Amino acid sequence: MELPQFKHRVPAKIQPELETLLAQNLKQLQTDSLKDPIQLTEILENRLTHFWSPIEHLHAVCSSPELRKAYQNCLPLLSDYSVALSHNKKLYEAFLNTPQNRITELAIRDFKLSGIALSPENKKRYAEIEKNLSELSTKFGEHVLEATQHWTYKATTEELTGIPENILPENNILTLDAPCYMAVQKYAVNRDLREKCYKAYVTRASEFDENKYDNTEIMTQILILRQELAELLGFKNYAEYSLATKMAKTPQEVLAFLNKLITEAKPVAMREIKRLEEFAGHPLQPWDIAFYSEKLQKQLYDLDEELLRPYFPVDHVITELFNLMKAVFNIDIKPVDNLEGTATWHPDVKIFEIKSPKAVFYMDLYVRKNKREGAWMDDYCSRYKKPDGSLQIPVAFLTCNFRAPKKNHPTLLTHDEVITLFHEFGHCMHHMLTQIDRIDIAGMNNVPWDAVELPSQFMENFCWNKDVLKKLSKNYKTGQPLPDELINKLIGSKQFNSGLFLLRQCEFGLFDFELHLQKTVTPQTVQAVLNTVRQKTAVIKAPDYNRSPNTFSHIFDGGYDAGYYSYLWAEVLSCDAFGLFEETGIFNTQTGQNYINTLLSQGASQDIGILFKNFRGREPDTKAFLINWGLL
Ligand code: ZN
Repeated sequence: MELPQFKHRVPAKIQPELETLLAQNLKQLQTDSLKDPIQLTEILENRLTHFWSPIEHLHAVCSSPELRKAYQNCLPLLSDYSVALSHNKKLYEAFLNTPQNRITELAIRDFKLSGIALSPENKKRYAEIEKNLSELSTKFGEHVLEATQHWTYKATTEELTGIPENILPENNILTLDAPCYMAVQKYAVNRDLREKCYKAYVTRASEFDENKYDNTEIMTQILILRQELAELLGFKNYAEYSLATKMAKTPQEVLAFLNKLITEAKPVAMREIKRLEEFAGHPLQPWDIAFYSEKLQKQLYDLDEELLRPYFPVDHVITELFNLMKAVFNIDIKPVDNLEGTATWHPDVKIFEIKSPKAVFYMDLYVRKNKREGAWMDDYCSRYKKPDGSLQIPVAFLTCNFRAPKKNHPTLLTHDEVITLFHEFGHCMHHMLTQIDRIDIAGMNNVPWDAVELPSQFMENFCWNKDVLKKLSKNYKTGQPLPDELINKLIGSKQFNSGLFLLRQCEFGLFDFELHLQKTVTPQTVQAVLNTVRQKTAVIKAPDYNRSPNTFSHIFDGGYDAGYYSYLWAEVLSCDAFGLFEETGIFNTQTGQNYINTLLSQGASQDIGILFKNFRGREPDTKAFLINWGLL
C-alpha cells in the first residue's frame, strides 16, 4: 500500500523538484511512440499527482510562509504544463487514431474545447478571448470587493435597536460584509435603517455606486466575449458550450427543469409571503422579509442550534456513521494503526482503511492555525491498474474545521456540522468505492459538474431521517438520543419559508441560463433578461434601483456561468436517489448494494444519466426533492 509521505518535505526543494518532474513528463511525451495515448497520459498524470497532491494538501491544512511561497511559484509551471498537454497536436491525433471508447471520447472532447482543432488564425483569437475574459472576471471580482468595502455608515445606538449585543458592529459602524448586513436585515427594528442598508447592498458595483466600481460595462463585455468563444468552437451560444461538459444535454432540458420547479415553488412562496404579511400586519418590502422571517421562525420553532450540540459528540457521530455504512452498504471501516509509513501532518489526524474494495482515508477534523477554513474532500491518488498489472488503491483526505476537544470535554457538533461531515464523507465514498481501474474515469474524475455533488448531497439525506437521527444522537451527559420534539422542530425549521428560498435559487439559475442563451448582447441585455425572469419568479417587486447582477460573482467570476442551475439539479438527483431508500426501507442492504454497484462505483465510465437510470430504473424525478422541502 502506497501512502503519501508528509515528512522530509523541504519547501525550498519543491519548485526545482517539480521542474524536473514536468520536464521528465514532457520528454516522455515527446519520445513516446503514442501507440497507447491513454496509458501514456495515465502514467504522466499519476506521476504528477503523487508529487503534487501532498503539497497541495499541506498548503491547505498546515501552511507556512515558506510553503506558501513555494506553492505560489509552482502554479504558473503547472498551468504552462497543462496548456502544453492540451495543445499537443500529436497527442490529440493519437487519441483520434485509437479505438474509440469512453476515455478517448472524453479526451477528444476536452482537446476540442481547448481549441486544438481551430485554424491558426482562430486559435490566436481564442487565446486572446481567454486572456481578456480572465482579466475581465478578475476586474469584476475586484469591483465587488472594493464596492463592498468602501461603504460604511455610522449608526446611532438607537438605530441599532434589536441587534443582539454579541453581533453588534464595533463603534456602531455598519458595513456591507455579509455578517453585518445580515445582522441588520434580520434584527434591526428600525425599518429605515434596513432599507438604507438594503439599497446600498443591491446597488454595489452599479452606476449608482459613487466610488466608480461599476460592473455594468464589464458584464456586457464578458457576455459578448463568451458568445464569441462559443461560436468559435462551433456552439450556437455559451449555454450550449457550458453543457458540453455537463450531465444536462440541451438548454431546453435545463429551462424545462427550472420552469417546472418555479411552477411548484411559486404558489408555496406566495402563501409564505402572505403568512409573513399577516404576521407583520402590513405589506412587505424586500428589506422586511429577513426581519419578519426571523421573528416568525422563532415563534414557530424556537430552535437554537446550540441546543442540539450536546446530542452530537463527534466520536459517537463517527462511530454511527461507520455503523450506517456497514448496515446499508456492507462496508467495513477500521482505524489504521502502526502501519509502516503512516506519518501524518498533525497528531489529530486519523487514518482509516476500508477492507473491500481496498481504500484509505485521512480524517482531519479540528480547527487549527494555518489551516484553511471550511470543509472539503481532496485526494492523494485514484484507483488505477498500472501497466505492470498491479492495482493502486484510492486514498482520500477528509477535512473539517470543528471545534477542537478540550480536556474532559468532547467536541460537540451542531446539526449543520453533522451534515457537513456526512457530505464530505459522501465525496470520499465516491472516490474510494470506485471499481473503475482507469484514472480518467475512476471515482469522481470526469464526473460532470452538475452531478458531482450527487453522492455528497445523497449522504446529507440520512441526517434528516428520524430513525438515523435517533442513532446518531447521544447526549454526552445523559446518553439519551434526541427527543422527538426536537427532531420535529429541526425538520420544521428546515422547511420554513422553503418556497421563497427555492424560488430565489430558481431565479438565479434561470437568469444565469437565459443570459447565456442570448446571441446578441447589448448594454441593456442584463437588465432586460432579469426583468423577464422576474416576471416568472418575483413574489415581491424589487425596487427599480436593484442591480444585484452587478455583484453576481458566481457567474461572472466564479465558474458557475451557465451552470448555476447545477445546485438544484444535483440536489434533485440526490433526493431522488435517496427516495429509493425511503421506498424500500432506509437500511435496506439490497438497495445499498444496488446504489454502489450501478451508480457510485461506476465513476464516469458511462454517461451519468445512464448510470442514474440503471440505479433508479427510470429518469430523474423532482418529487422526492419537493417532499423533502415540504413543497408537496
Ligand atoms: Zn460537496
